[in-house]
Amino acid sequence: MNWEKHPGVWEKAVELWKSGLNATNIVRELKIEGLTRSILNARLWRQGYRRPKGYSHSEINAKAMSKRRAALQAAQSSSAEPNYPTTVPASRPVLFLKREAGECRWIVGGEGIHSFCCGAPAPGRRSYCEDHHRIAHTSSGTET
Ligand SMILES: [Zn+2]
Repeated sequence: MNWEKHPGVWEKAVELWKSGLNATNIVRELKIEGLTRSILNARLWRQGYRRPKGYSHSEINAKAMSKRRAALQAAQSSSAEPNYPTTVPASRPVLFLKREAGECRWIVGGEGIHSFCCGAPAPGRRSYCEDHHRIAHTSSGTET
């Protein structure tokens, strides 16, 4: 990693570090080829940027958690709106991006990459659980 080739990047990294991001997130944010977490950590350390003993990223995690909670609440309150996709009793909302094969992909709330999907078991090779499969087919009028 040649920092001279990327003017301003180190300053930006320090700025992000001061704002509470850890090296992993800073590397992800900067997207510089050849810049890895360990390279960044080493330089931060050499230049005296060190977290106080016992420092944790819990504050940041708390923020992420409250975001997740808000999305979940949005998912739950949305069930009161008739035309919005709803959760069903079997739903256990998961982040859409974290959804695994065999989990219902019905969106129950959130937006963009923070979308939550139903997450209930989807039988066979279906995309949706039993209930959402039925909703999908009745609402589009293509029930078979
Ligand atoms: Zn479902």
